[in-house]
Amino acid sequence: MNEQIINKLATLAESAKYDVSCSSSGVGRKSKVGGIGSTSSSGICHTFTEDGRCVSLLKIMMTNYCMYDCAYCISRKSNDIKRASFSVKELVELTLEFYKRNYIEGLFLSSGVVKSPDHTMERMVRVIKELRTVHKYNGYIHMKSIPGASKELVTQAGLYADRLSVNIEIPTEKNLKFLAPEKDHKSVFAPMKYIQNGVLEYKEEKKKYKSTPKFTPAGQSTQMIIGATNETDQDILKVSSLLYMQSSMRRVYYSGFIPVNPYDNRLPALQQAPLVRENRLYQADWLMRFYHFTADEIIDDTNPNLDLEVDPKLSWALRHPEMFPVDVNTAEYRQIVRVPGIGIKSAKLIIASRKFGKLDRYQLKKIGVIIKRAQYFITCRNSSGTTINEIKPEFVKKILVNKKHTSQNTNQISLIFP
Ligand code: SF4
Repeated sequence: MNEQIINKLATLAESAKYDVSCSSSGVGRKSKVGGIGSTSSSGICHTFTEDGRCVSLLKIMMTNYCMYDCAYCISRKSNDIKRASFSVKELVELTLEFYKRNYIEGLFLSSGVVKSPDHTMERMVRVIKELRTVHKYNGYIHMKSIPGASKELVTQAGLYADRLSVNIEIPTEKNLKFLAPEKDHKSVFAPMKYIQNGVLEYKEEKKKYKSTPKFTPAGQSTQMIIGATNETDQDILKVSSLLYMQSSMRRVYYSGFIPVNPYDNRLPALQQAPLVRENRLYQADWLMRFYHFTADEIIDDTNPNLDLEVDPKLSWALRHPEMFPVDVNTAEYRQIVRVPGIGIKSAKLIIASRKFGKLDRYQLKKIGVIIKRAQYFITCRNSSGTTINEIKPEFVKKILVNKKHTSQNTNQISLIFP
């Protein structure tokens, strides 16, 4: 690889790292004499395929020149930063080179907007089309669609990419206009709709003609920046729950605001990215996708923001003592899975195990229930009897928050429910 390409790679991988639609490794380590391998802190990121495999991706921008001036973006036109662009040919070669050397299993391609959304999108589509059709490249491709791109180009992209994303960035139209004057929600939602329609149309075609190609088989994703504007968690989760109504929407990513342009006074002056809030939103999102909570259950007008001290499932249980205690030996699955300390796997095991007799605390523990947490919300064969209704939600919270602080590193992001 020549030096010019390596320099471009460094510049454009650096610019791409702020898109959390997939995350960089964050570790840099040089190879040693006699050792094997090395790691790169940027450029290579990881994502999950539909069947749950974790794959490493070359995360790169086609160019970090941009005609827009979004306040939250490092690549915006008014920033004095090092700029670079890859040609279609260079990007194709780079991807193949990395792929053949086994550095990556796929490509995550994004870009600044040059000349027009369609001009940019057309060049990006050429990259993935050439990879697929000329070089028979079979690796994973995630491409970020350009807001405002035409239906024809989005549809073409869907034929070559495994996943497409269109980032909302700012949850409300008013605030998006404030921070990104050249963009609006229409330019984001229109390509999202094209993707959704493409998925449905090609699915129908496939029923008639077996040879119909797959259209974005890994669906679409989007990203919202958290903390750059004044939306509440309720506003954010409502947008997410609407997006999940589209069958092709697989993931909404929540990216804690990073003040890359601290001199822009439209943005809050943050010392640190809101990591705990970001973590709570991911947990709430998880509750909607896998535990079938609605956004209105997780958050309401009285509590428009997620509790930063406890996870949203525990927070919901503490606000609803009337739903507890749940008798694990008789209750339905959907009641059991809502108990703090009981996850999806444990809830299923509880239902399956009840056929063989009444469960006690010891058996629940063996199944994987976190008894220290669940005990206030359940009854079972030899339960202690100190349920949430006897000792009051505030006290249960106090006990569990204290336990959590002594037993867990709070910087650690955790998506595990119980
Ligand atoms: S359009 Fe994208 S690349 Fe351009 S300034 Fe806005 S966020 Fe950055």
